[in-house]
Amino acid sequence: MNYENTRKIVLEAILEAVNKGLINGTSGNITMRDPENPNIVAITPSGISYTGMTAGDIAIVELKEDGTNEWIEGPYKPSSELPMHAAVLRSRPDVNATIHTHSMNATICAMGENPELRPITPPQCEFTPIAIVSFTMPGSNEVAAKVAAAIGETGSVCLIKNHGMFTCGKDMKSAMHATVYTEEMAQTTVIAKTLGCYEPMPREAEAAMQALIAADKAV
Ligand SMILES: [Zn+2]
Repeated sequence: MNYENTRKIVLEAILEAVNKGLINGTSGNITMRDPENPNIVAITPSGISYTGMTAGDIAIVELKEDGTNEWIEGPYKPSSELPMHAAVLRSRPDVNATIHTHSMNATICAMGENPELRPITPPQCEFTPIAIVSFTMPGSNEVAAKVAAAIGETGSVCLIKNHGMFTCGKDMKSAMHATVYTEEMAQTTVIAKTLGCYEPMPREAEAAMQALIAADKAV
């Protein structure tokens, strides 16, 4: 099997996301760039159950120089959200792993007149500010362009209204951290707002925490 290690990392990550309750059924998808071939990407396949899936079931796609994405290996076609993952991987050479989920609380926090997701605890500051993009049809090139623009040159998280969230990182561990902390931030926010005790971290504290994280001095 080609790209075996990369496929295994994607398989383990999707099972972790299912076990953590971040992904239900066949919603959500994950990609990982092959470390030796930056234009080769392993991606969860479309429409088959993640539990019981094997590494060989993970699809392999080539990000071609002409801008198209070609399915080159694997028995099942790549996730229909391939354009979204590919757009971020193409625009961010520093990103090697991407995760898209329909996590419930993150999805709730993208709704309303002026949606905003703010950090509640210090570790969450690594992922803020979080851009929120309007609804566009799943799987479309339009949603792919919106997500890539929202993630920008330095971002690692964005929320997609009436759909879910998208995260990325230099490796699968950091992309998974971004997913877990964003859903944690959203869950705390939803519960706190329900109880009427919502108090996100002050903006000055958030900025101070981000300076510590940037200097690698956060505990
Ligand atoms: Zn989706």
